[in-house]
Amino acid sequence: MSAIILDGKALAAELRERVGQQVAALTAANRRAPGLAVVLVGGDPASQVYVGMKAKMTVAVGMRSFERRLPEQTTEQELLSVVAELNADPQVDGILVQLPLPVAINADRVIEAIDPSKDVDGFHPINVGRLSAGLPALVPCTPRGCVMLAKRAGADLAGMHAVIVGRSNIVGKPMAQLLLQQNCTVTVAHSRTRNLPGLCQQADLLIAALGKPHFLGAAHVKPGAIVIDVGINRIATADGGTRLVGDVDFDAVVPIAGAITPVPGGVGPMTIACLLENTLTAYLRREGLPS
Ligand code: NDP
Repeated sequence: MSAIILDGKALAAELRERVGQQVAALTAANRRAPGLAVVLVGGDPASQVYVGMKAKMTVAVGMRSFERRLPEQTTEQELLSVVAELNADPQVDGILVQLPLPVAINADRVIEAIDPSKDVDGFHPINVGRLSAGLPALVPCTPRGCVMLAKRAGADLAGMHAVIVGRSNIVGKPMAQLLLQQNCTVTVAHSRTRNLPGLCQQADLLIAALGKPHFLGAAHVKPGAIVIDVGINRIATADGGTRLVGDVDFDAVVPIAGAITPVPGGVGPMTIACLLENTLTAYLRREGLPS
């Protein structure tokens, strides 16, 4: 048997389409369009590509895109001033500061300076707390996309044993909260976990978010499990080029799993689509409209 391939590109396109339709209805009713501001500090090539993609897709769904590209030597104070300006700008509903930031800047202080109602990454402690308390919050985009993909496998997630490998603030921890909300029984594994293969073998839903190419293989997967691969790793190829691979050894796992996300084309596209959805949610809440 071969696993169902969960097509993140197609699901992300559906989500963008839905967001686009809602934005079109708002502007047709003479309301202003939602606005997303992305701040990039420095010239990291991968970040430049992400920021460019985000801007393009923001405009494609009919939203306004604001970009602030700041030089590498920007000080924390200067960045905090830009965040304060965007917090105060009524045209801006979502603020995303692209990570990683240069080492001289304290990312936690910058995240805490973002108005929580505009924190479309869902990283502000207020949104983190609201998520864990089960209150309405802006939810981190990547884990939200993972839940949507897992549901696409056609399964009711309630009662499933979900094993998340990775406990970062960006992926693993919010993933655990979202899966608890789905009534999964959740285990979070990390670099100090003992007998990782044995633990993963118990998972009905396995989320790989550790940042190690092809780390999880056939020995980690229970037959029929749903496998969501968050990892994005660039590896060298035999012809001297590079390619993107996940944290899961896709070829080894595909004959065992019930459903699996590919890399690229799985979780990655969902992240940006969820960012646009979060921007719309932030707009609706700020405008006092049902979200
Ligand atoms: P981090 O480096 O912040 O966290 C990695 C986590 O994996 C840590 O909790 C770490 O444990 C754990 N880990 C590392 N090695 C092992 C191991 N051998 N066994 C078990 N656990 C281990 O990574 P991120 O969460 O930021 O990202 C994870 C991956 O997801 C990366 O490949 C990243 O590129 C990708 N990513 C993809 C996104 C997308 O849009 N698709 C968005 C965000 C990230 P410990 O805490 O003990 O150190």
